[in-house]
Amino acid sequence: KFITLEGGEGVGKSTQAAMLSDALRARGLDVLLTREPGGTPGAEAIRALLLDSDLEIGARTEALLFAAARADHVQHAIAPALERGAWVVCDRFVDSSRAYQGGGDDLFDDAIMALHNIGSWGMMPDVTFLLTAESEEVARRLTERDGENADRIGGRSAEYHAGVADRFRTLAASDPERFICISADGSPQDVHDRIARAMAPLTGE
Ligand code: C5P
Repeated sequence: KFITLEGGEGVGKSTQAAMLSDALRARGLDVLLTREPGGTPGAEAIRALLLDSDLEIGARTEALLFAAARADHVQHAIAPALERGAWVVCDRFVDSSRAYQGGGDDLFDDAIMALHNIGSWGMMPDVTFLLTAESEEVARRLTERDGENADRIGGRSAEYHAGVADRFRTLAASDPERFICISADGSPQDVHDRIARAMAPLTGE
């Protein structure tokens, strides 16, 4: 099974991805825990380009680089893991491109999906957990984690992030079979328990 975690900055995706993969491993399952952009040497190199604010990368270049990073990640890590029967838990995937480059930067979803089809065989997750939180709570966590550098790409407006949040909601509503919305309120354990409950039918509990 291919599981992704999605959401805006500071909703706790990485923590939840780690907790979920630990829980699956505790059940004796083979799990690949990975993240995007990144997850392979090639994709991590592209990630470093994307996060280098000196480069002033434009929205279209950004969309192409995210798609390129994902292509390398799918080819060298995700597809081989799924082929050997492992579970893959991925912190962000194509829905982040659809929300950030699509919602924040206004690129057409068709264009982003076309890049995804070219680069990554249009591979989609079986289940996507969308973590949602109140913006004040997110702001508090981000200040705690990163100080001023909450958005690792940086220089993007509050309006941009509102567009991202909107697009995530629209994506989830348009594909209720795949998306499970999870409130990111409360402690990491609270959030994990919500995810674990939603996972139960998948792991055969
Ligand atoms: O998830 P993480 O915080 O490591 O993501 C790194 C940065 O890349 C974040 O600032 C996120 O906003 C950005 N990003 C993006 N478009 C994507 C995926 C991530 O702008 N498709």
